[in-house]
This record gives sequence, C-alpha cells and structure tokens, in this order.
Amino acid sequence: MRRALVWFRQDLRIHDNEAFIDAMESADEVFGVYVFDSRTFRGKTSFGFPKTGAHRARFIIEAVADLKRQFQVLGSDLIIRIGHPEDELFALAKSLRTSWVFCNRERTQEEVEVQEHLEKKLWSIGQEVRFSRGKMLYYTADLPYPVTHVPDFFTQFRKETEHITAVRQPLPAVTGPLTALPAEVNPGVLPQLSDFHLTAPEYQWITGGEEAGNKRLQAYLWETGAVSHYKETRNDFAGDFYSSQLSPYLAQGCLSPKTIYWEVKNYESQREANESTYALTYELLWRDFFRLMGKKHGNRIFQRQGIREKPVTANLDWEVLEQWIAGKTGVPIIDANMRYFRHTGFLSNRGRQLVASFLIHDLELDWLAGAEYFESQLIDYDPCSNYGNWQYLAGVGTDLREDRYFNIYSQARRYDPQGDFVREWVPELSALTSHLIHLPDQLDPDVLQSANIRLGIDYPLPGVDTERWL
Ligand SMILES: Cc1cc2nc3c(=O)[nH]c(=O)nc-3n(C[C@H](O)[C@H](O)[C@H](O)COP(=O)(O)OP(=O)(O)OC[C@H]3O[C@@H](n4cnc5c(N)ncnc54)[C@H](O)[C@@H]3O)c2cc1C
Repeated sequence: MRRALVWFRQDLRIHDNEAFIDAMESADEVFGVYVFDSRTFRGKTSFGFPKTGAHRARFIIEAVADLKRQFQVLGSDLIIRIGHPEDELFALAKSLRTSWVFCNRERTQEEVEVQEHLEKKLWSIGQEVRFSRGKMLYYTADLPYPVTHVPDFFTQFRKETEHITAVRQPLPAVTGPLTALPAEVNPGVLPQLSDFHLTAPEYQWITGGEEAGNKRLQAYLWETGAVSHYKETRNDFAGDFYSSQLSPYLAQGCLSPKTIYWEVKNYESQREANESTYALTYELLWRDFFRLMGKKHGNRIFQRQGIREKPVTANLDWEVLEQWIAGKTGVPIIDANMRYFRHTGFLSNRGRQLVASFLIHDLELDWLAGAEYFESQLIDYDPCSNYGNWQYLAGVGTDLREDRYFNIYSQARRYDPQGDFVREWVPELSALTSHLIHLPDQLDPDVLQSANIRLGIDYPLPGVDTERWL
C-alpha cells in the first residue's frame, strides 16, 4: 500500500487539480492537507501591514471549509493545521508513512522557499515532493519559446501565443472514493479570524470556495449574460456584474483559468460570441503574462527598480500614505475608491489603476508601499498580478512607455460622469451636483458655500496641484 499527501495551497478545488489527480493515480491511499502558514497569516509586510488582511483571510477560511466539506463527501476529511507547512507536512508524512507529497508548484520567492525546505526535509526520510502545474491558462511546455524568452511586452506575448497555443481542457474533478483518515490522525479544526488576530470585516460581498466560485461563473455567464457586455462595463467602479469578479476565486485556485476559459468558449458557441466575450479571455492572458514574468525575472518582480532594473528614488511620507489609505487625500475619486477598497477588500481594475497612478505620479510616493498595502488588503491578492501591475504603472516593469500617468480629473469625469460613485463613498460632498463633485477645490467659493461645504474642515484640501489636470 502506497500513501500520498496532497498539499493544497492556492489550488483550493477538486476540479482541474493536477496534483490531486497525480496523487490519485500514483497512490493507493490519498490524504489532503491545508496548512495556514503562520508567517503569512500572522506576519507583517516590510512596511508593517498585516500580510493577510481580514477580507482575504475570511475568504480563504471559507474556501478551505468548502474543500473540507468536499473531502467529507468523498469519504475522507481534510487535514487542517496552523504553522509552517514544511514542519506540519513533514510530521504528517512521517507519521502516515507516505511515499510522496503532491502539490502544484509555486514560483514566487516565499512559496518556493517553503516547498524547497519541505523537499529537503522529506528527502531525509526517503520521501519526495512531486510537483504538478495548475495555475495558468497555458502550460509552459506548450508555449512557442522557453520561459527565459517570453517577451516582456504583453502585446507581443499575446500575438505570439494566442493563435498557436491551445488552451488545454480542464481535468475532470476527482470523484473518489477517498480513504477515511486513520483514527490516529487528528483532522484539526478550521481556524477563525481571531486566531490570526484579525476582526471580521463589517461587510461581506463574496463567499470563498469552489462551489461559490462555480455559482459566480454561472451567474456571470449563463444567468445574466453579463459577459456579453463586459467590454462596455468593465471600466465601472462598482456594481454586481460590471466585471466577472472571479479574481478572488482564481487567486485562491477555487476556479482554474482553464475552466473559465472553456466555459466562455461554451457560452460563445451556444449563446453569443462578441468582442466582450473575447475580452474576458484576453484578460486571462494578462494573468498568465504576469505569472510568466515572475518565472522569468524571479525576485525582480518585487523590487523597487523592477524587472527593468531602473534606478528609482523611494520617497515615503507616512502621513500622506495614511491619507491615501484612509481615503482622505482631498481628491474625491481617489478617496471614494480607497474607502470602497477598505470596506470590501476589492477594487475595480479602473479603480486600481487610478489610485496606484495617483500614489506614484501625483503623490510621488514609493510604489512598493502602495503595492504592499494592496498585498495586505486585496481579497484577490496574487503576487505576480499585483506587483506586475504596480511595476507597469511605475514605469519599471513591462511595456515600452516610460510611465503610465492617468489624469485623475478626466478619468473621474469619464468613468463617473454624474459623480454617483463619489457621492456614495464621499458623503461629505454629496450636496455637489453632477460632475462638479470631482474637483471641489477648483469650484467657485459660492458653489461650495451653497452646498454647505468648507474645504479643509468638512473635506480635506488636496495635497497635490489639481491645476495640472485641467
Ligand atoms: C495596481 C494593480 C494591482 C492589481 N493587483 C491584482 C492582484 O493582486 N490580483 C489580481 O487578480 N489582479 C490584480 N490586478 C488586475 C485586475 O485589476 C484584477 O484582476 C481585476 O480587477 C479583478 O476583477 P475581475 O475578476 O472582475 O476582473 P475581470 O475584468 O472580469 O477579468 C477577468 C480576470 O482576468 C484577470 N485580469 C484582468 N485584468 C488583469 C490584469 N491587469 N492583470 C492580471 N490579470 C488580470 C483576472 O484574473 C480577472 O479575474 C491589479 C491591477 C492593478 C492595476
């Protein structure tokens, strides 16, 4: 009898899970484990933000609970631990006398360190880690070049891959039956937010887990047909169906990108194929692209000088950073987005671009501080997508342009023309009508007076020169 452990990481699903399938094919008895890495759930980023904020921690706990439920349906149970995965898995592998630990390979520094440490420890007792692939739309082996030659420019990458590289079909879900956990193995209990010194966010808009992810996919495609309008709505700041909102499920692997891709293809063949349905699959390519950049450039994706190794000066004024975080910069569209972000753990793509560009190019603060705040707060945090996008906007990453500067006022007028989003999240200004809300410091004092707004008292004066946007 040969036994295997499947170490679930950012692949919290039983469908299209190569590591799980490989384990089922190799071993007679397969047990699943999830370890809440105490460094990730209790640690701090280099700027002192919690490494995993409450929104994401809650989502992950729910996703693990869903996986545990699925393991129980398949006749077993999911083993849950809090600690260091390399120690917890080693202890389990030793006591269960397994032959292998199967997992989907990660490519970013902290995750790689853990998997390498585990590999060494298992080797000392004659066991091995077997790595599988599971994160991307494409298999690197199917690309027309090795990872070291992937172009650093998205458009080139897309043109050179999308028509010649096929997206493979997702693998079927594991149907079991699985072996019951031996009596001597304690399955462990699901942690609560308080175990990580976190308090529950006031507001919950999304539920973690494979089941919830599948429901969202069905709703976005088949039930509402919202995907058919994606291109027109994707730049909105808020709403239920303006974009897919599948990113939290992708980040924790509750859904695989291949599953989403093929469901869109299915929708295209049965319901409708248009620019919008294509645009959603196009965005999935961006995700692959940033992951490939992570593979190609290694730790440079996390460094201030970026993958281009461009010298940059790092300015940090904590007071200004805190105003940005709190949504009190005096620039309404930025404040609305940052308050919304705090409340939900999520931001639209347009919102992310604006607040990041504002921090980098208007406040002239260190982009790494902004990226780390995102790492802490985002419900859909993904190392490659987050740092890749920040580098891109800071002009130290991919793309040819020197930097990506957004004129905040014209963006606000374009994407929130009536000021409704700002009015909802910056109620201090709600008496200002239509687009007048977007630049209060440039308004005639009479307009402010009749709206009963005292700038600098009821709402901050902007710390940047807003004239440059006019
Ligand atoms: C500064 C900044 C930081 C970001 N950090 C993250 C992050 O940590 N995690 C993350 O998943 N996305 C990140 N993004 C990309 C993008 O904003 C989100 O993926 C998207 O807003 C999630 O919403 P959605 O699922 O509704 O996306 P949709 O618009 O419905 O797109 C579908 C999927 O395509 C992928 N995608 C879309 N745009 C991008 C993009 N620009 N880069 C990479 N993948 C993309 C995502 O997986 C997304 O779920 C960041 C963007 C910026 C500008």
